Amino acid sequence: MRKKIVAGNWKMNKTLEEAVALTSEVVNMIKDEVTSDVQVVLCPPSLYLTTLRQYVQGNSRIALGAQNCHEKASGAYTGEIAASMLKSIDVQYVILGHSERRQYFGETNAQLAEKVNISLENGLTPIFCCGESLEQRQSSDFIGFVKNQITESLFHLTPEAFGKIVIAYEPIWAIGTGLTATADQAQEMHAALRQHIGEKYGEEIADNTSILYGGSANAQNAAELFANPDVDGGLIGGASLKSRDFTTVVKAA
Ligand code: PEP
Repeated sequence: MRKKIVAGNWKMNKTLEEAVALTSEVVNMIKDEVTSDVQVVLCPPSLYLTTLRQYVQGNSRIALGAQNCHEKASGAYTGEIAASMLKSIDVQYVILGHSERRQYFGETNAQLAEKVNISLENGLTPIFCCGESLEQRQSSDFIGFVKNQITESLFHLTPEAFGKIVIAYEPIWAIGTGLTATADQAQEMHAALRQHIGEKYGEEIADNTSILYGGSANAQNAAELFANPDVDGGLIGGASLKSRDFTTVVKAA
């Protein structure tokens, strides 16, 4: 059975004080209000991870994730963070290939394959982001484009390694825009990606792969999106910055 996961991507937001407040509120609300076994992942800016660890330690329902890591093991890469460093402070997840990293930092499918490798070598679970632009959706084989992102960054993995990957489908046109994919659009892509994974790794691995939806998912629309059979939770940006909204999304999963 695949896991239901709701991950909050805080991006470059919050002071330390605000980050601590948000984390404590989410921890308390989840404890008091959420009975299902959905895995919650908080992805704050990396420099807060060590401080926030104490708020989630020993709580198996809430894990910490980073928003990125470097593809090399260590060395002269000023300003970067290695997967081994994240592991050394008990971080469990890492978002890789977010469209903002692809767009503003030029991350390529080949580079992401290396980031996936080093993350897995260090025992981190990659949340691998993929998704098409509006132009691609309107003018090309957009499903083929997203499948190709998965092929080029993930299909070199052994079946055992692939089994550790979480996918996040995030149509770029829906990220931070207030435009959400309809439940049907999300389901269409998720089913296509699951089939693609099945053709490479077999039905069992495809069935066990969590595929999250991301792109303006919020307290109002999450239940409808998550009701789709192939949508296994969400990667949440804006709505993860408010504890009440985020917890409502978690409840919807
Ligand atoms: C994201 O950036 O991963 C995201 C889904 O953002 P938002 O929810 O704000 O669209």
